[in-house]
Order: sequence, then C-alpha cells, then structure tokens
Amino acid sequence: MSERYSRQVLFPPIGSIGQSKIRDKHVLIIGAGALGSGSAEMMTRAGVGRLTIVDRDYVEASNLQRQQLYTEEDVLEKLPKAAAAEKRLKAINSAVEITALIADATPELMEELVGAGAGSAAGSYSGSGWPIDLILDATDNFETRMMLNDISQKYQIPWIYGACVGSFGMSFTIIPGVTPCLNCLLKTVPIQGMTCDTGGIIAPAVGMVIAHQAAEALKILVEDWEAVRSGFVSFDLWRNQYSTMKMSKAKDPGCLSCGEAPTYPYLDVDNMTKSTVLCGRDTVQIRPPKQEGGLDLNVLASSLDSLGYEVKANPYLLSVEYEGTRMVIFADGRALIHGTKDLNQAKSIYQRLLG
Ligand SMILES: [Zn+2]
Repeated sequence: MSERYSRQVLFPPIGSIGQSKIRDKHVLIIGAGALGSGSAEMMTRAGVGRLTIVDRDYVEASNLQRQQLYTEEDVLEKLPKAAAAEKRLKAINSAVEITALIADATPELMEELVGAGAGSAAGSYSGSGWPIDLILDATDNFETRMMLNDISQKYQIPWIYGACVGSFGMSFTIIPGVTPCLNCLLKTVPIQGMTCDTGGIIAPAVGMVIAHQAAEALKILVEDWEAVRSGFVSFDLWRNQYSTMKMSKAKDPGCLSCGEAPTYPYLDVDNMTKSTVLCGRDTVQIRPPKQEGGLDLNVLASSLDSLGYEVKANPYLLSVEYEGTRMVIFADGRALIHGTKDLNQAKSIYQRLLG
C-alpha cells in the first residue's frame, strides 16, 4: 500500500511533507448526507489521520441518488447513516481512525468534541485526545451551521461552509482571526434560503460543492494558507453561472461571533429548538432533554409490540407505525416522526408512544 498516496504526493503543493501533515490531522464532519458522505470519502482516501463524523439520520431510498457511501442494503436494514458510513469508510482506508456518532449536533456535543481536544479535560468522545484541526459543514440547516460557526470562533478552528439545492451550490472558507465569519456574511449573502431541499437536487451540484470544500480542506491540512480561497463562491450548473464574491470588507468588528466582544449566541442551548420540522421531509424531529443511560430499545419494542403496534427494530433504532405516521426512535431517546409537519401533533404522538 506504499503507492496508495503516490499521485497526491506527486502534486507539488502537497508533496511528501504535505502528505505527512495530512496524516497528522483530525477532521470533523457534521452531517453524513450528500455533502458529508462525499467529503468523508475524499478525506478518507486522502489519508487523514483521524476522522470524526456526526449524523442524526438513517439511510432511506431517496438518499441513494446522491449520497455516495450508501447502498440498497443499508436502506433495507434502516442503518443509521453514521453506522453505514463508518463501515464503508473503514473498508476504503483501514489506516484512518474513524469514529461515527449517531447523534444530533447539539452545542453540548460540539463543546465535548471540539472543546475537549482544545486543551480542557478530555470528554468521552475525545478518543485519543487528538485535537480537531478542521470542521467540514455537511448539515442541511441554518441553526446547526450558525452553531458550528460559533464553535469555530470560540476554539479558533477553521471550518468550511457548503450548501446546495437544485443545481445551485455555494461554499466559503472561514479561518478565525483572518476571514469574516458566517454571522458577518448574513447581511450580504442569502444563506438562510439555502437550507431546504424542497426544490429537489441533482447529484452534480452536490459533487461540485464537495470538490470546493475538499480542495479547501487539503490546502488547510497541508497548511498552504496562501492558497486558501478568500471569496464566497457560488455556481448554478444548469444555468452555467459561476461567481466569486470578494468578502474582505465583510468582517464586522461588532459581530457577536467573531467581533471584539463575542458572546457566541448560537451556543446558547436555550436558543436551540427542541423539536424541528426537517426540511422538505414532512418529518418532525423530537429531541428530549438528555437522559441518563438513554433508552432500552428492546424493552420499548416489546411493550409497543404487546400493545399491538407494528414494530421493526435493529440495534440502533426502532420504527413503529402510528395513525398514519411512522415514528423512528433512536437509543438516545431522539425520534423522527414521518408523515407530519405539525410540531404539536408530533410531540403528542411521541408522548403517547413513549409514555
Ligand atoms: Zn463574524
């Protein structure tokens, strides 16, 4: 396998020194959907030392058109994306230390993952205590991106924003202390509109955003700071439009995330919703307060089964049909309720089934 990285090493800006820098780095990817599976595969093939992936969802048939790590078998088994991704990535490159967490990217979890590596007491997810060098955004919602932005500023870790919908995509690289942050950009760029997949999406738009994010990631991992793109890039592959906006003047000294007196507003747990309508999915996520020890899925499955509900389960989750909706419950107590956009209806179904 000594030839494994030969083509990447032959590329002069990387070389053998760059390759060993890549090997020394720990990359965190938030989301294992379309962007996340592509970025994770590129980082794994490039030979990063350690990769941590966080995803809250499981594989469905509608993912297969663009989420390159998953197969029909993953759909049949209703595997969580994190579990399916970890299995596939380990088969691609066994030298990379891969940890995939089936979890919602909450501020608490991010503090534990990123803060632990930043020198404080090691959290339960810090593993080897290897600090995180780079965060890749592969989420599908505004709230999580703004939270990643605050985490990046608080712990001074670069992150790469990426989003796509339809045939349109965009990306921006944020280096704390150097570039404006995502919060600074809100006045100039319509980022909030880029969070929903109701307009559908084509795989090449995903691939293009992954290419932009992964190229920036390699530059950061080999510490070629001169090469890092400073502009905000966007494109529409169907309309053949490409543009880069200069952002050097966008940095706001009064910004609450990266300014002179930051408060990191998006890390405030009270600002985070506990139940959310998932974009374009006709699905509500319910996230209960953190419970000690989590949920015993076997006990729950047999009690729902004895009440006459149709229950399907695997080691990670349980799926139950209820009055025209389908609830999928994870071991941490979190649930996805499919077939409704109504938060109150979803909450009451959750409470009825979980007691
Ligand atoms: Zn800012």
